[in-house]
Amino acid sequence: MDLDFDRKHIWHPYASVTNPGPVYPIARAEGVRLYLQDGRALIDGMSSWWSALHGYNVPELNSAIQQQMGQMSHVMFGGLTHQPAITLCKKLVALTPQPLQKVFLSDSGSVAVEVAIKMAQQYWYSQCRPEKNRLLALRNAYHGDTYGAMACCDPVTGMHHLFSGQLAQHLFAPAPTAKFDQSCQDQDIAELQQLIEQHHQQLAAIILEPIVQGTGGMRFYSPDYLRRVRQLCNQYDLLLIADEIATGFGRSGKLFACEHADICPDIMTLGKTLTGGTLTLAATLCTDKVAHGICNGEAGVFLHGPTFMGNPLACAAASASIDLLLSGPWQQRVSAIEKQLYEQLTPLKNADQVVDVRTLGAIGVVEMQQPVNLAQVQAALIEQNVWLRPFGKLVYTMPPYTIEPEDLSKLTGAMVTVLSSL
Ligand SMILES: *Cc1c(COP(=O)(O)O)cnc(C)c1O
Repeated sequence: MDLDFDRKHIWHPYASVTNPGPVYPIARAEGVRLYLQDGRALIDGMSSWWSALHGYNVPELNSAIQQQMGQMSHVMFGGLTHQPAITLCKKLVALTPQPLQKVFLSDSGSVAVEVAIKMAQQYWYSQCRPEKNRLLALRNAYHGDTYGAMACCDPVTGMHHLFSGQLAQHLFAPAPTAKFDQSCQDQDIAELQQLIEQHHQQLAAIILEPIVQGTGGMRFYSPDYLRRVRQLCNQYDLLLIADEIATGFGRSGKLFACEHADICPDIMTLGKTLTGGTLTLAATLCTDKVAHGICNGEAGVFLHGPTFMGNPLACAAASASIDLLLSGPWQQRVSAIEKQLYEQLTPLKNADQVVDVRTLGAIGVVEMQQPVNLAQVQAALIEQNVWLRPFGKLVYTMPPYTIEPEDLSKLTGAMVTVLSSL
């Protein structure tokens, strides 16, 4: 592979093209292993940014894509429809909480979040309440990299200062402090409640990642907190947007993280995991109330329509991924992974540099005292035949659900070896 060309001409995510960090050439992926060009096999602890639930080169997903390719790879979705979209949306409507009845398909998570924000704003515009156009988000949140989504990310880690002037000015409540297994006390939610009381006249919606704050800090919080947010939304006439792009399809131990709190959002976003990590696809679901509100308003239609909306290949892959997930014992697998991550990572709590170790579902997080040297830690993990991509102080794993206990032990063993030697 021409790595020199890569270094000189190709952007990688969050990377410099003048002083690029190491990138490893990969030839193929199979099961839970990534095969580097030089033949080394790495156990994948990232699921390709949390998306490859079933691992790689999965026959069921391959054949769904191949079959669809023989019919059509893509057609425009304006004025046309097709079986792959209908089949997928039927599944999404059936699996998500009952009030979510309408599905808008798009290409990526960030766009699904843009769509969710526009839905909330267009809804209030249609109710003749155009002043209700701001959002209330949480600190430590991550909702994507496009402008609308970025404006809802944590103002510090989302680097709002760099783009100030261009970003919508939303409100931010403190990140939830009540832990997953704790109930939510009045003081845990007092500031959020105060912001709502003061600003609800201008607020369209609260946007949050249910139960698991992902890229903004890998934090787990109390279902009770989420229930109380739902109640406050009802009380003050705000919509609730649940961004399940990272948590959807089982990662937290429930099919959707909202189920931990037994609540239904008004709008839900899905992405990452939707196609089992094969093709890019996202969805924004909403209730009839939101959809009818939008369509009975001045515009009469929802004002969004990506060129590659409802891509048939991606829809076919998503349907196959959902079928594969639901036909297997995913819940037992995720809880077995949870137990093993807990047992094998918790001893790291005693390591010098480690501040916290936390696990939930198929997520294991080690929080360090200092930001880790990415290149150094990654190289040390690769020596142990493991692929992880730490960020900041966080070294975490979200393996494919199909990982065998022996491979998971190798993965956690590598984390323990490398992190306790820092
Ligand atoms: C990854 C992520 C997004 C953005 O998805 P992209 O496909 O990267 O645009 C949005 N919200 C959450 C919670 C995410 O984890």
